[in-house]
Amino acid sequence: MSATFSALHDLESKLHELDRRAQRRRRRIQQKPCGPEARIDGRVMLSFASNDYLGLANAPELIEAAREALPHWGLGSGASHLVSGHTEAHEAMEQQLARFTGMPAAISFSTGYLANIAVMPALLGREDEIFADRLNHASLIDGALLSRARLTRYAHCDLAMLGRQLEASRARRKLIVTDSVFSMDGDLAPLPALLELAERYDAWLLIDDAHGFGVLGPQGRGALAAAGLSSPRLILMATLGKAAGVGGAFVAAHPVVVEWLMQTARPCIFTTATPPLLAAAVCRALELIEAGDARRARLQQLIARLRQGLEALGYRTAASATPIQPVIIGENAQALSLSRALEERGLYVPAIRPPTVPQGSARLRVSLTAAHSEADVDRLLEAMREARTDMPSA
Ligand code: PMP
Repeated sequence: MSATFSALHDLESKLHELDRRAQRRRRRIQQKPCGPEARIDGRVMLSFASNDYLGLANAPELIEAAREALPHWGLGSGASHLVSGHTEAHEAMEQQLARFTGMPAAISFSTGYLANIAVMPALLGREDEIFADRLNHASLIDGALLSRARLTRYAHCDLAMLGRQLEASRARRKLIVTDSVFSMDGDLAPLPALLELAERYDAWLLIDDAHGFGVLGPQGRGALAAAGLSSPRLILMATLGKAAGVGGAFVAAHPVVVEWLMQTARPCIFTTATPPLLAAAVCRALELIEAGDARRARLQQLIARLRQGLEALGYRTAASATPIQPVIIGENAQALSLSRALEERGLYVPAIRPPTVPQGSARLRVSLTAAHSEADVDRLLEAMREARTDMPSA
């Protein structure tokens, strides 16, 4: 007779607990490619759930670039970058990413998560200190913890608090780390002031531009270009699976930092390089981003229309001028019920709950893309108006 498998039993009761707190997530199976029109469980829905901000994920030009690369490169890269997986396509992509962002050098990663768990452990150790905004993305927190450096968090965008923490630090090396656009709030980090602090206190400044790359700055060159910043202290990370519409990520920095990452960053060394056809598609995406002023202008119009509409309906919006437009609800169950009410009306707007956002700030995360139309935004607003009256105590 086998003993009760108590670890499994324990996990089961934890899953029940998630159910009880309305925190259990479900993966929704998508039956159409990424775009404003989704089909989920056989139902066609208008989706406000992707980070494909410029609507490039299915741009014919990108599909064509991948199609052209396929017979030349085949599918898999077959190995990590340092062994035999680094192709001419990856090399061209890295060079173009450096040029595009105005940084001296760049190195690619298979995902943004991997890039973020790579940089801090490669640059810092036990004698060092990391200063992190409280609302930073989870991957930055994981990267900081993996580095074993002391982790000091400052209140969201609180420069005075950060200044005091830097002043008090006796660490060997210091690194400030922030999202450029906060992923669940859509607001912007004060990058020029953060760089000033980095310079004053001899620190690095690591910026996660996952949601700014392609959207912010002249020709979509990202948050650093938008703020006109350059310094050897800057380390820029961005993903290529959001506005660039493909997948993967890169880190751009001083060539010494990039070379050091190549030599020592474990998530780069010990993982297979992405299929080269993705690198070819990214190169084409950079051209579309650069020429994408019309897409960005359209996005801005949609953002303004949505915000005005939500405010007129009395919803609580956040101070965001980016395509990430949270509607703050508060309680998990209420955010879920609003999301479900929208779903009944054919709209897919995910509810975001703790631990992704702080307790008591459950929200709908509306994500706009240049592929949406004004009529799409109006449809969302109309459904939000109807759903509000359905909510238990809104
Ligand atoms: N940083 C931020 C701010 C993000 O929002 C994300 C993706 N959700 C990542 C990093 C991770 O990027 P990727 O999806 O390419 O792993």
